[in-house]
Amino acid sequence: MDCIFCKILNGEIPSYKLYEDDNVLAFLDITQGTKGHTLIIPKNHVKNVYELDKKTAEDIFRVVPNIANALKKAFNPIGLNIVNNNDKPLQSVFHFHIHLIPRYEEDGAIISTINNYGKFDNEYFNELTLKIKENLNK
Ligand code: AMP
Ligand code: ZN
Repeated sequence: MDCIFCKILNGEIPSYKLYEDDNVLAFLDITQGTKGHTLIIPKNHVKNVYELDKKTAEDIFRVVPNIANALKKAFNPIGLNIVNNNDKPLQSVFHFHIHLIPRYEEDGAIISTINNYGKFDNEYFNELTLKIKENLNK
């Protein structure tokens, strides 16, 4: 399979490994968007969050606090963002991954949404709630 992260996992291409267990690998993101920018991936190839099974989700997320704390101790950031992109055009590597992005004063990173507080009425919120809930697996 032509997947760059599977190639990292099977040693075909190099990476800066930070943490590894039976199910998960964490390594430095090659672009280093900020100092310590890290990716966490499952060892089984899963395209994105829509295909993530519960077991794999658990395997990945259980290591997040350890790595986040290591980044905090190592670099003393002012904060840390956890980002996960799904589907084009947001996602560029189609092997599920979580970005851990330590944040620093004036680091130039832009990770934000627009603040729409006060723009929508109760009816709109109720509509959204209903729509999402009717699509959840029970
Ligand atoms: P996304 O846009 O969420 O799919 O992000 C994919 C990330 O993978 C980007 O931040 C890339 O910098 C990173 N990336 C791509 N190839 C490599 C590689 N060989 N080693 C480390 N990180 C990589
Ligand atoms: Zn893969």
